[in-house]
Amino acid sequence: MNIHEYQAKGLLAKFGVAVPRGQVAFTASEAEVAAQDLGGSVWVVKAQIHAGGRGKGGGVKVVKSREEVKKTANQMLGMKLVTHQTGPGGKEVKRVYIEEGCDIARELYLSVLLDRATSWVTVMASTEGGMDIEEVAAKTPEKIIKVAIDPAVGLQPFHARKLAFGLGLEGPQIRSAVKFLQGMYKAYTELDASLVEINPLVVTGAGDLVALDAKMNFDNNGLFRQKEVADLRDESEEDAAELEASQHELNYIKLDGSIGCMVNGAGLAMATMDIIKLEGSDPANFLDVGGGASAERVTVAFKIILSDPNVKGILVNIFGGIMRCDTIAEGIVAAAKELDIHVPLVVRLEGTNVDKGKAILDKSGLDIVSADSLGDAAKKVVAALKEAH
Ligand code: GDP
Ligand code: MN
Repeated sequence: MNIHEYQAKGLLAKFGVAVPRGQVAFTASEAEVAAQDLGGSVWVVKAQIHAGGRGKGGGVKVVKSREEVKKTANQMLGMKLVTHQTGPGGKEVKRVYIEEGCDIARELYLSVLLDRATSWVTVMASTEGGMDIEEVAAKTPEKIIKVAIDPAVGLQPFHARKLAFGLGLEGPQIRSAVKFLQGMYKAYTELDASLVEINPLVVTGAGDLVALDAKMNFDNNGLFRQKEVADLRDESEEDAAELEASQHELNYIKLDGSIGCMVNGAGLAMATMDIIKLEGSDPANFLDVGGGASAERVTVAFKIILSDPNVKGILVNIFGGIMRCDTIAEGIVAAAKELDIHVPLVVRLEGTNVDKGKAILDKSGLDIVSADSLGDAAKKVVAALKEAH
């Protein structure tokens, strides 16, 4: 789960991470009041959407009067902000964050994340703040410092000092960096985060360290015990299909290909995606319908898959273990009759009562292609897709 920048800053501040003062606003007049409350003579109006790259897209504006705060907030609210992370359609701005202006001397990069290669929480730092870290990693990987943290001991002051020296910090900044990093690490572990990213971390003209931007992602599996975090969820920012899937306890992730997949079990779903690629096509989604593939859930799953206009064929690959294949077949037939499935549908069933299941599909009168093995299923759906075009 993602949260907004201002929410991430609010959480991080509780862990001792230095952030600028700011207030969220849902209307232009609230923005003006926020500027008045904050005081000072320079403010920054920042669009709050669940995507980065707002600066370049016109979603971060530095202004010098309260009238301008109001005017800028008015322009931003309701606009479709397009950044390299939103896709061409952009994202509607529904709230803005008003912050006190900041005197920037240097922009740095810091993040805490899970390094999947080492399975250790890792702190990444770079002197190239404010830039896309993916670009830094691709073009100048030597400018990224990584420190892996042994979970048994957590982030120690020496880790933090190593990072601080690597960033060229000096004098009292080293101590600030230690506190800053320990706060970030504590927030990451205690809140079940999967990412805490500060880009940029700035050194101010006065030499202080401040998180000018903040991004936090959370492990959804930890949300049941993170009530404060779960309450920050902004469903209007989430992909409609993914949201509906999560409400039905389906694990759905939209992808860019053209073959919709309905599978039970995450491992089988991964294997199905792999074999589609092996056959030269691309999956349109990852979808794990879970153990209880009832007719109702299968119907919701079909609806979600079909809501994606890129889907040109569907591959159902279900292993009937506890749930028997005949029950699953009945669910597929019921769903197919209820919905207008206008693309080729290939079904591969395996497991308990597979013969009964196949017989149900055959007798249904529906245009369903039955497949025997995983390879056979992938070949058939890719072939059907080519034939249809
Ligand atoms: P992002 O583009 O979505 O990552 O948004 P950021 O919050 O990182 O803002 C983008 C850029 O705007 C930063 O790298 C800064 O250069 C600039 N910026 C953000 N906040 C301030 C501020 O308070 N003062 C000034 N002068 N610039 C800011
Ligand atoms: Mn940023």
